[in-house]
Amino acid sequence: MNIVLFGGPGSGKGTQSEKLIDKYGLHHISTGEVLRDHIKRETELGKIAKSYIDEGQLIPDDLMIRILDDVLEKEAKDKPGVIFDGFPRTIPQAEALNELLNKRGKELHAVVGLEVPDEKLVARMIQRGKDTGRADDNEETIKKRLHVYHNQTSPLKEHYKKQNKYVAIDGDREINNIFEAITKELDKIGKPDVRD
Ligand code: AMP
Repeated sequence: MNIVLFGGPGSGKGTQSEKLIDKYGLHHISTGEVLRDHIKRETELGKIAKSYIDEGQLIPDDLMIRILDDVLEKEAKDKPGVIFDGFPRTIPQAEALNELLNKRGKELHAVVGLEVPDEKLVARMIQRGKDTGRADDNEETIKKRLHVYHNQTSPLKEHYKKQNKYVAIDGDREINNIFEAITKELDKIGKPDVRD
């Protein structure tokens, strides 16, 4: 089972990923974490990534797609399934994901969209900034990230709806209730007769 966890910054993708890994044994790929790891290790890629992340902007598609291809090759080859967290964020990335999976004889099964109102996203990110010191969780960068999300990433919702892959989840609830709603949807996959 290959799934995308989709949603605005602060929508709970990381939190729900952790719970899904536990339940389904899926491999987790968070492109944000991959980039933050490069920044921490001060690699060349880390320097480039930092210049975009600090501005709340997306890493250019061609670079980001090459990074994902590389991670898939190194980490996910023999895995039964992957949760993509934070990828795709643009239409070209969505098309590339399809190709990257197809060339490995795999496919994308569902895109789980965690839907949370903007004001809640802002409050959560500000709190996360306080709790973790994450550099881009400051008020100015949060505004830019939300803007980027609405302009460049949210069109993916329609893109995946057209493919019948988008599953909307109310992400403005208690963590365990959100998780329960996700697992209910995922458990329908592979059983198309019971799918709404
Ligand atoms: P995240 O941890 O998913 O919130 O990502 C943090 C930051 O990393 C984003 O604001 C982007 O600057 C960058 N980033 C992560 N994933 C992607 C992606 N798929 N495409 C472009 N930039 C990304």
